Amino acid sequence: MNGNTTKVIKISDLYNDDIQYACDILKNGGLVAFPTETVYGLGACALNPEAVKKIFEVKGRPQDNPLIVHLASFEQVNEVAYVEEKYVNVIKRLTPGPVTFVLKKKSIIPPEVTAGLDTVGVRIPAHPIAQRLAQCAGPIAAPSANLSGKPSPTDAKSVIEDLFGLVECIIDAGESAFGIESTIIDLTKEKPLVLRPGPITIEELNEIFKEFGGVEFYVPKADEKPLAPGMKYRHYAPEKTLKMVEPEKIQEYANKDVLILCTLETCEKYLKDAKNIHIIGEYARPYTIAQNLYKSLRLVDKSPYPEAVIEKLPEEGIFFSIMNRIKKAVSKF
Ligand code: AMP
Ligand code: MG
Repeated sequence: MNGNTTKVIKISDLYNDDIQYACDILKNGGLVAFPTETVYGLGACALNPEAVKKIFEVKGRPQDNPLIVHLASFEQVNEVAYVEEKYVNVIKRLTPGPVTFVLKKKSIIPPEVTAGLDTVGVRIPAHPIAQRLAQCAGPIAAPSANLSGKPSPTDAKSVIEDLFGLVECIIDAGESAFGIESTIIDLTKEKPLVLRPGPITIEELNEIFKEFGGVEFYVPKADEKPLAPGMKYRHYAPEKTLKMVEPEKIQEYANKDVLILCTLETCEKYLKDAKNIHIIGEYARPYTIAQNLYKSLRLVDKSPYPEAVIEKLPEEGIFFSIMNRIKKAVSKF
């Protein structure tokens, strides 16, 4: 990047000329942070190895952690990967949307994108700006637009905190709708294998993949090279100590020198008179927790409290995906 100025553009109007401006940056080998319905992505042209390398440099991302390729349409999927006929209908049913499919890659995708794997993760985002960028610039390789290790950004302010001065352009289109990263399904194995839980739940996938006997959930074994290489890295963790606590025990932390991250319901039940609270969403509307989670985790390091606790949640439906992220955030490894 020349100099260190980042152009931040606010886009609410889809026909805004600034989308063309951002698209030209991608076509010329630059980096653009852009909104999607999951989290903000840091994009580069997926067919340009030099541009893709910049993503790893800017994020401090380990070289063996592959990137997801963002596309505008199912036709574009066929340009970059082989799709087995039997999966065409389910892929069409789940796209556009917050799901990534791991498929056998075609040679057009350079090894820099896939960390040398012979598979590629592809996603067709539903967000209109991500859609238009991929229509205009072609396949876009994009991990989340944060520095490696930090919580993924769910608004432009968080992207600016991490990447201002390091990328050519940041597109601000408000808050991400889901707030956690896509569900990843590997379709190259005997049975559809969920590598990362996300906004589309395992229960929903079991229904959609019924004719294939449902999906399996991948749990890496300690002595095995993980199938989703990104899994082995520390993720989402604040610098300060963060512990997970059962809702019934959380009142022990009321008015202590600890920030309490909890649901509205737990706050009303156990923490009525406490001042040291940050509400992460509503238990009765769990997608609100997904949407606020990463911003809440970023708040831990910004708050005056030296440490924090977060409420333990159940592990079914969308809570399972939320707990997957919380467990990584409280882990030191
Ligand atoms: P991020 O976009 O930062 O959420 O990271 C993308 C995630 O997708 C990483 O955890 C990768 O391990 C996973 N991923 C991307 N491509 C592949 C692939 N070809 N095979 C398995 N996992 C992948
Ligand atoms: Mg990420």
